[in-house]
Amino acid sequence: MMMDLVARDQKVIWHPYTQMQNALPHIPIVRGEGVYLYDQEGKKYIDAVSSWWVNIHGHAHPHIAQRVASQLQVLEHVIFAGFTHEPAVTLAERLLPLLPGKQEKLFYSDNGSTAVEVALKMALQYWNNTERPQKKKILAFKDAYHGDTFGAMSVSGRSIFTQPFNDFLFDVVFIDLPNQNNILALQAEISSLHAEVACFIFEPLVLGAGGMQMYGAPYLDQLLATCAAHGILTIADEVMTGFGRTGTYFACEQLQNRPDLFCLSKGLTGGTMPMGVTTCNEKVFNAFLSDDKLKTLYHGHSFTANPVACAASLASLDLLLEPETLANLDRIKASHQEFFLKIKDHPKVKSVRQTGTIIALEWETGNDTSYLSSWRDRLYTYFLEKGIVLRPLGNIVYILPPYVISNEDLTYIYTTIEQALAEL
Ligand SMILES: *Cc1c(COP(=O)(O)O)cnc(C)c1O
Repeated sequence: MMMDLVARDQKVIWHPYTQMQNALPHIPIVRGEGVYLYDQEGKKYIDAVSSWWVNIHGHAHPHIAQRVASQLQVLEHVIFAGFTHEPAVTLAERLLPLLPGKQEKLFYSDNGSTAVEVALKMALQYWNNTERPQKKKILAFKDAYHGDTFGAMSVSGRSIFTQPFNDFLFDVVFIDLPNQNNILALQAEISSLHAEVACFIFEPLVLGAGGMQMYGAPYLDQLLATCAAHGILTIADEVMTGFGRTGTYFACEQLQNRPDLFCLSKGLTGGTMPMGVTTCNEKVFNAFLSDDKLKTLYHGHSFTANPVACAASLASLDLLLEPETLANLDRIKASHQEFFLKIKDHPKVKSVRQTGTIIALEWETGNDTSYLSSWRDRLYTYFLEKGIVLRPLGNIVYILPPYVISNEDLTYIYTTIEQALAEL
């Protein structure tokens, strides 16, 4: 019996971040091409959020598809302890030198949350291995988002996402985003705690799920300098900001100081397959070299370094490094900046901010500003009807497009936002 896909979905699927009792119907997507998604009826949507920030080169990119297809015919997977393969080694060889600072080793996992878990375990075990087990505290930003597994949740801000689990999360020292006024106090706080602090984990320049909050590179630089002076390990979570999103290949390129570890995922495979990586410098890696087996990093996943995902990542890197991609990053940034100036004084716009290819505007909704704001569904539905996938974080509407988006499509999104400001 042929049943409508929406009805079949409702019978068997539990969707992420979704109250299933009153969920809006899930739209069946049958095809993607470039920035467009096509539903069953042939309706076209601009994917203005890059399908949860992962898609950087457009949907069903032929270069990535071809590399994935040929890898599948040669080697689909192999256990990664005791064995290795060309795509995993080549990807590490190509990726490590692209990262700012001297990153020496790359560890594969499956997604952004696992990349964060691995980084935290590396940092905590580093102090164990170097006989300073009293360094147990972790520093993180109050509104940070680092993922949904328990360690990643622990270092994320306490929110409605974590509420039922708060009792099970480990203690973290949360600090405010740095700015001109609080930077000295933050540095003093870090200095006073340094004997107990193992590491500082941060999203550089933009806090994604925390509402696309943006903060200045110079202040982050000062925090990193303080951490470095006290031997606190620093972990850059570039899961969202990596691979061009903030206008440079990696957000940390915009800093003087270099983190000890990086977490990458989302754009890594161009948004085609799940994969995460954690990289570290020589100092971190060397602390695990020992005749003592207890100093080993006992961590791995069944699909660690999956060759097909590595092939997708290599193909995505080819595209990222084309001069045209950098030109696109500059073009989107300039276009966003123009819209920024146009919209910034609009009475219904509380604030606008922009970093690289991301622009976020906060809707004036009085006191109704939470993630659960009723405005969220009104805005979401409004844009969907106009053929644009925008997924507001509460009252914050942001555009985070694949880099291949055309000027015409950008203009259409801006115009539709202006229309929404006038009509809603
Ligand atoms: C999305 C995200 C994660 C989690 O990645 P998943 O692949 O969804 O587990 C971690 N850190 C940041 C900054 C993210 O944006």
